[in-house]
Amino acid sequence: MGNVEKGSKKDVPVRLPTYFNIVNFTSFISAVFFFLLVLGLPEHSDFVAERRIFLVVMAALSLFDALFLYFALSFAKTRIFLAVYFKSILWIFMLTAILYALGGVRSYFGLIVVFPILAASFDLEPKVTLYLGSLSAILFAAMMFLDSRFAHTPGYYVVGFSHIILLGIFTFYLYSIIKEGVRQRFEKEEARRKYFDLVEVDRAKTEFVTVVSHQLLTPLSELRWAFDHLMETKRWDEAVRDILKKSNQSVNALIGIVRDIIHVSDLEKEKIVYKREKADLARILNGIIAELRDLISAKEVDLEFREEAGKFFVYCDPERLRNALLNIVDNAVKYSPRGKVSIFLAKDQTRIRITVSDTGIGIPVNDQQRIFTKFFRASNAMRVETNASGVGLFIAKSIIERHNGTVDFASELGKGTTFTILLPMAEAEEKSKDERR
Ligand code: ADP
Repeated sequence: MGNVEKGSKKDVPVRLPTYFNIVNFTSFISAVFFFLLVLGLPEHSDFVAERRIFLVVMAALSLFDALFLYFALSFAKTRIFLAVYFKSILWIFMLTAILYALGGVRSYFGLIVVFPILAASFDLEPKVTLYLGSLSAILFAAMMFLDSRFAHTPGYYVVGFSHIILLGIFTFYLYSIIKEGVRQRFEKEEARRKYFDLVEVDRAKTEFVTVVSHQLLTPLSELRWAFDHLMETKRWDEAVRDILKKSNQSVNALIGIVRDIIHVSDLEKEKIVYKREKADLARILNGIIAELRDLISAKEVDLEFREEAGKFFVYCDPERLRNALLNIVDNAVKYSPRGKVSIFLAKDQTRIRITVSDTGIGIPVNDQQRIFTKFFRASNAMRVETNASGVGLFIAKSIIERHNGTVDFASELGKGTTFTILLPMAEAEEKSKDERR
């Protein structure tokens, strides 16, 4: 039975193994059935012209089918060896011999040779189907010309040639179905499988990035602690102090980037559980402004915070929402070498509107669509600020959207940018909850 080694290079996968096995099984059952019928009930076997030849070939076919079924069922779950083609070729010879024993061209079973072509077609190889179909037609023609038993009967060649034409049509029909239809479906399946493989690769990548980022965080925090400690413990001269300060800033920036990356991979895993607390947005924004004081005072930037009269409560995860707003305000300061950053808090029907406007570098029109994409940075921003990861807005947007809010912006290159954030007002949420009760 040739090469049955699993996974060898000569292995040929059968792509529709179920149908392939059904045809094999049917062939085996028919072979046994007809063998027993002709052997046991000769009086009911007048369709056989050459009894002895028929019995021998049927016995051989039964045995061969049984053996092949055994191997196919044992190995087909993954792959079937090259013997599939060998088997189909042998089948064609055997079935032509059976056809001869049944009376050749005059037999009622003239088209049984379609079986091996059908079985071979389940491999979805159009060319192989065509070759096997041609082989059947050639063998049929050879039998027609060499068989002298019934050649003189009327209509012999007409029947023979019609069989050959039918075989040709059948083969060509199968060939085109495989080529156009079934194969396309198979390819779709392949594409689906590839997609899921990619999803798996993506998951592994996220896992890897998360592990590496967490590993990086510990030594970086130690480094920051060491710089803080060094700066506090000794009176360094101005030059050394400057170096220490810059190094500390770089380590802080690195820690920020690593935290952002961890946050992004957490978002991808949808792992983050959000708290829900009633919090005052004015207070959150004042906290952010206090945190950015150092950054602001190092630049020629004025910061203004205005709020309409009233309270600005939202239901949120205060720490995460603070993080989202911090990213947006931080950007406004970061990307404004000079000028003004204004934060305005107002009510907009059932929502609270926060506007963060700056008179900074602006966002090039061509880049505007991509600024919420992770790791994207506009070229003008890269020139102004090198220590940034390009994930701040991606994170901010996901957090705001998880709070049923929206974030939008308008920008003009060289003139400035305005971000507008809308969040559901706590009172409005409470009211709609009451109404639903
Ligand atoms: P980054 O870490 O680069 O600041 P973000 O995700 O926060 O990443 O922002 C993405 C990009 O959007 C920035 O690199 C910058 O090109 C642009 N951007 C965001 N906010 C502003 C702003 N206020 N002014 C100009 N460009 C901005």
